[in-house]
Amino acid sequence: MNCKHFNFNAQVAVARLEDSGRFMAEINVECADCKEPFQFIGLPPGLNLNGATVSINGLQANMAIGPNSQIMSPLQRMTVDAMGKKQ
Ligand SMILES: [Zn+2]
Repeated sequence: MNCKHFNFNAQVAVARLEDSGRFMAEINVECADCKEPFQFIGLPPGLNLNGATVSINGLQANMAIGPNSQIMSPLQRMTVDAMGKKQ
């Protein structure tokens, strides 16, 4: 009988990249019942310090993250962009 995948284990590790001082959240998901790993869909492979990518086997999402006080939120960026257009 095939597992219908009703329960999940998710793991997030946070890596500090020593050379750049940047941070990366590394995410893995598997079915808790049959242990089949899940692939992340729609992300490009590779490394992106300003975005999200997936490992070459599709099983680990790597998402660039940073301390809240050091990065503008999407709302703050929208505000800055809107102010720039008025001038
Ligand atoms: Zn399963």
